[in-house]
Amino acid sequence: MVDLFLKNHMALTEISPPDFDVELQIVYSTSDNFTEEPIYARSGCYLHQDAAERLSKSVRLAASLGLRFKIFDAFRPSEAQWALWRHTPDSDFLADPRHGSPHSRGVAVDLTLLDSSGTALEMGTAFDAFTPLSHHGSMEVSAKAQHNRHLLLGIMTTAGWDFYQNEWWHYQLFETQKYELLSDSDLPVPMMHLHEHERQKIQK
Ligand SMILES: [Zn+2]
Repeated sequence: MVDLFLKNHMALTEISPPDFDVELQIVYSTSDNFTEEPIYARSGCYLHQDAAERLSKSVRLAASLGLRFKIFDAFRPSEAQWALWRHTPDSDFLADPRHGSPHSRGVAVDLTLLDSSGTALEMGTAFDAFTPLSHHGSMEVSAKAQHNRHLLLGIMTTAGWDFYQNEWWHYQLFETQKYELLSDSDLPVPMMHLHEHERQKIQK
């Protein structure tokens, strides 16, 4: 039991500057997400070590083109997957929490590209737009958006990520099932339920 606990703590790497030159906009920590309620009690960005290594490679590939990433979500505690599923039980866009989301294994990331001025590239839909327009290969979005999606796809797949047909923003490791499902208590500081002293520390 103790061994498992320690392993989980060590498995999740915090994704934040300056170690990772990315912008974070963790949408489920705000009400600016499809549920219109904050799901997380704080903004936090974590990935399993294997995924963090691939993200580093993606960051380097993007940087050589003058681009950076904006991350919308990464590790999602299993408790959060249940909250999302209760709101929208649509298996085209959300993993059924009984099977587990790759996000809850720490091996999926939702992201877009920023240009050198920090402006998000045109992708044709917003993040989490639950519509066929969000599918890879949609020719109903502008040519510019198709181009930018292919650029994101090229960078991410070159760095070793698998993609998800229905969401242009979602990337995950191959063989996600070999990574265990993790919950809020596997984080060094919880994201779902903060103790008062943790809340105070974050607000400082
Ligand atoms: Zn995702």
